[in-house]
Amino acid sequence: NNIDKATILQRAIEANVRYVRLQFTDLHGSLKNVEIPVDQLRQALDGNIMFDGSSIHGFVRIEESDMYLQPDLSTWLLLPFAPDGTTIARLICNICLPDGTPFSADPRGILQRVMDEAKTFGFDDFQIGAELEFFLLRLNASGKPSTSPNDYGGYFDIAPMDAGENCRRDIVLTLEQMGIDVLSSHHETAPGQHEIDLPPTDALTAADRIATLKMVARTISRTHGLHATFMPKPLQNEDGSGLHCHLSLHHNGKNAFYHPDAVYHLSPIGTAFIAGLLFHAPAITAISNPLVNSYKRLIPGYEAPAYAFWSTKHRMPFVRVPTTLDDSTQIELRSPDAACNPYLTFAAILKAGLDGIRSQLQPPRPVDSSVTGMSEDERFQHQIVPLPANLEAAIHALEEDEMIQDALGLHAFSHYIQAKLVEWEQYRATVHPWELDNYLAHY
Ligand code: GLN
Ligand code: MG
Ligand code: MG
Ligand code: MG
Repeated sequence: NNIDKATILQRAIEANVRYVRLQFTDLHGSLKNVEIPVDQLRQALDGNIMFDGSSIHGFVRIEESDMYLQPDLSTWLLLPFAPDGTTIARLICNICLPDGTPFSADPRGILQRVMDEAKTFGFDDFQIGAELEFFLLRLNASGKPSTSPNDYGGYFDIAPMDAGENCRRDIVLTLEQMGIDVLSSHHETAPGQHEIDLPPTDALTAADRIATLKMVARTISRTHGLHATFMPKPLQNEDGSGLHCHLSLHHNGKNAFYHPDAVYHLSPIGTAFIAGLLFHAPAITAISNPLVNSYKRLIPGYEAPAYAFWSTKHRMPFVRVPTTLDDSTQIELRSPDAACNPYLTFAAILKAGLDGIRSQLQPPRPVDSSVTGMSEDERFQHQIVPLPANLEAAIHALEEDEMIQDALGLHAFSHYIQAKLVEWEQYRATVHPWELDNYLAHY
């Protein structure tokens, strides 16, 4: 894209912009921002806006805390929900050190690094179409999110025209006003659960848009008296919220996963990419399923994967290859959840797929029969391994996978591991309601 600083300054004047939000995400995918009055915009475009990196999760220590925001000019857009009609724009930024070099643990920079690596393989584009699921929950009397869903609708339900449906449409309309295309949206399986699907774009744009979609959903839902949560499994005995990712690699405008004569139209490059995803599945899971709670979604019976295998037919696998009639062959990765950091997740996925291509890995045969019905022996014969059972197991898998570590870089990797082990230890030391319910009276 060829937007320059002069164009941005011009657009700011034409739209009567008063404030600009400079946005980035921390290691855990939380969107952060600093708001500047528009007369600081020139300074911002020159990369001169500084912040204290030591206050951001996963960034730096106190003694080396000055960090600079370098806006990506292609992310300029107007936020249509300022309270009093003030025009506010936003720019998504990369993080730089005082000497102008990229900060190695900036999640956006991490994804860009792996996308650059893909270019050295001849793949100039890595595209992702994301399906983002979330719950709309009621607020309690003191304005805090409750666990009571806003409706009791199910998959693709239409009536009644409740606040949930209006809220979801309002979120989609707002995204469209911002210039973010939406493929479709619908009510998901669980009560109060919804899904918004984004069309395929390059992975960096896809990650930017997921971060933006979450911000919009949280903001708009409040105006309907609701809370939008991307927690992976908020309701017991109901489906959790996934972030299914439809992947394709491109070379000179052509889909490298497509081959007209191959089974499922899946090229040898596509097959090797799947093999890479399966081989690195445990370590990817540590990033694509980042919370203690994530592992309560990855169990059989709720349309989320529990085992690493691929299929063209059923809806339980880690990787699914949807049937296509044209050259749009895609690989759908179904394990990531709505709470993951999309930048880190896409970086790990791409790194794993490229490793499959480089090492010419072959996946086991696809499995189209029920896996939960199989005995352990049968699963062994099909080379089907379970995904990590909990956050601790996933973190250990990440510690053993040098390829995925390399995608993150040493700084992000060590901060991530450290933060996740603290989270796990806190959880492990907690006495949960389930234990009291089952043990207190009995023992
Ligand atoms: N909610 C399911 C998950 O956890 C997916 C359901 C679906 O889209 N078919 O991934
Ligand atoms: Mg879907
Ligand atoms: Mg869905
Ligand atoms: Mg899907």
